[in-house]
Order: sequence, then C-alpha cells, then structure tokens
Amino acid sequence: MENSQKVFFERFKYNNTPLVYLNQKRKKIKKIIEIKLNTKEYRNELINCHVCGSQIQDHQLISSKERHGLAMDTVACKNCGLVFTNPRMSKESFADFYTKYYRELYNYKFGKNDLKALFKNNYENGKKVYSFVHPFIKENIKVLEIGCANGGLLKFFSEMGHEVTGLDLGEQEIEFGKKYYNLNLIHKSIDDYYSQEKQDLIIMIHVIEHLTDCRTTMNKIFENLNDSGLLYISAPDIDTLKNGEIYKGDWLKLMQNAHTIHFDKQSMQNLLQKYGFELHHFEPGMSLLARKIKVGNFNVQNNFENIIKTISETEITYQDRRIQNKIRTILETKGIFAVIEFLSRPLNKILISIGMQKYFKRVLKRIYRLI
Ligand SMILES: [Zn+2]
Repeated sequence: MENSQKVFFERFKYNNTPLVYLNQKRKKIKKIIEIKLNTKEYRNELINCHVCGSQIQDHQLISSKERHGLAMDTVACKNCGLVFTNPRMSKESFADFYTKYYRELYNYKFGKNDLKALFKNNYENGKKVYSFVHPFIKENIKVLEIGCANGGLLKFFSEMGHEVTGLDLGEQEIEFGKKYYNLNLIHKSIDDYYSQEKQDLIIMIHVIEHLTDCRTTMNKIFENLNDSGLLYISAPDIDTLKNGEIYKGDWLKLMQNAHTIHFDKQSMQNLLQKYGFELHHFEPGMSLLARKIKVGNFNVQNNFENIIKTISETEITYQDRRIQNKIRTILETKGIFAVIEFLSRPLNKILISIGMQKYFKRVLKRIYRLI
C-alpha cells in the first residue's frame, strides 16, 4: 500500500526521526503504534478524496512522515486541491489510539494533565470565540460544542445566557465539567449523537482536521443544526504556516498522525459546500462561520495549483532560516523548551491570576521569532 511517488521535498521523506521532543514514555508509545501498524492491528485504509471522491491515482504525494517520526503519507488531490492523509488509519484503529495513547503522545509538557488549567484555558478561549460569533447570533440560543473537553468554553457561553450542550470522548473531562460546573456534557461522538432538538450554533475548535469519517460527521452536523443555524470552525490554516505563525513555519510539524485533513481557505470552502454549507464569515488563521445552503448548490473550485505553490513557498522560506531552525531543533528535540515551560509554571499562575499572561506570551513570542 506504499505510495511509490517521490515526496515533494527531500526533507519530507520518511526517516524515522522525530521533530519534537519525545521523552521515554512518548518514545514507547511511538514504538507501540509502529508495532500495531506493522502487525496490522492498526489498519491503514486507502481512501478517496473527502471532497471530490477522486482515487489514489489522482493524488500527489507531498510528505511521508509526521512530527513524531512515524511513517504517514500526506497527499494533495489533483482534482480539487484537498490535502489529507492517505492511506489513513481505520475508524476503529483511531478509536483505540485516542482512548489509549493520544493524550500521552501529544502532551509535550512536563507533569500531569491539569484539568483545572484546561478548563480555565478553554474558558478564556470561550471569550474570544464569543466575541467572534456575537455579532451574528441572537439572545438565548442553543449551542452545541463538539470536542468540548471539560466545558470551559461552554461555561462562558452559559454565563452569557445560552443553553449549552457539549460532546467529548474524554471521560475524565466530561465528569469534571458535570461535577464541578453542572454543565450538560455528554460522553459521546457527534457521529453517535441523536437529539430531537436542533441547535442554533455548533462549535468545533480544532476538531475538523482530526475527522476520519468526514461524511458521517458533516451530515450529523447538518442534521443537528437549525436551517438558519451557524457552524463555527477553527483549524490550522496552511496559509499562515509560511510566516511562522503556527508550527514554527514547519510543514512537517503540522503533519501529525492525529491530523487527517489540512485546509486553506479555498479547500475549507470546498469541503463545506460538499456537505451543504457556505462560508458566512472568515478570518485568516482560520476561524470561520458557515451556514446551510440549498442542496445542489455545489461548485468545487480546483485549488491544487495554489496549494502546491503555498507548500513550496512555505518550505523554501523554512529552509532559508537554516541557523534558526538548527537552534530551534536542538531546543525542541532535547526537551529544553519543555523544561523552561515547566519551570515557568509558578510565574505563569501568578500572571494568569492578575490577567497579564497574554502580554507576557506576546513578548515571549517576539523573542522566539528572533531566534
Ligand atoms: Zn479532491
């Protein structure tokens, strides 16, 4: 099932080398995943394009590794420009991965996951999302968040007078939000969710890039949304990679085994249209609102040339920063950043409590960009 095409840049080729810090535990998890893939306990499936349905012969191979050093083929559809993992793991394999390994593999921080800090973070993010959607929504509406973690964002929405429901696959998170904040959270995937009540706003924050069964999920969202309802989505924006705003401008860091689809504005628009939505409001970086359109109003624009241009420019810009990349790679893969983050926790707590953390973060970002 291996793709015989050449990768887009030599650096994108699989070589088993991680680009992020892996402590012993994460190294072990990576090994387990590799074994499960090799022994076919985790099944890889060849899929057609999520938007136009094209088959593998119409897919251009871009890269064959991901940030942890796992083998993973990412392709761009020549027919519509969508970038996605192909072959990708089966739904069952992903379910096992998310239950057992996801949290540990992706927690680059020291120490245990702190559910209180997670809640606080999401509550703060709730304020940002709220100010984004506020001009477009009415008072006292029904809000559903897919992938709500322990409900921080929904807490803020409920304080603003809205009726909230949250879905998440993390059992601990759901219990936390129910127990301490009395939120209406359900331990379920949207794919298995059924309700007679339609929602006025559905929120998906960094969820759409993880979808394995796009059709089921998007159809479920369509079904659960009022005809005049809105869908809020945020996701990594390929267009902002080049300027170093996300993932240190590194294509390979955006590639991660949990990410199955990658978007720029046009490919997001294509996907939305395919499943019955149109863009209503968009901000680069990617935050957007979409609304339902009439069935049959489907007009995909081929975005392939643009996507290839963006990826090439991103990589050329990245490779130009040779010295910075070397310094960053050492700081990152040796775990030095993780240590600094760990040591700065007490200071961080004080900054959060006096509301200064965002200013501090801004300064740190500036310094980080210089090196
Ligand atoms: Zn396509």
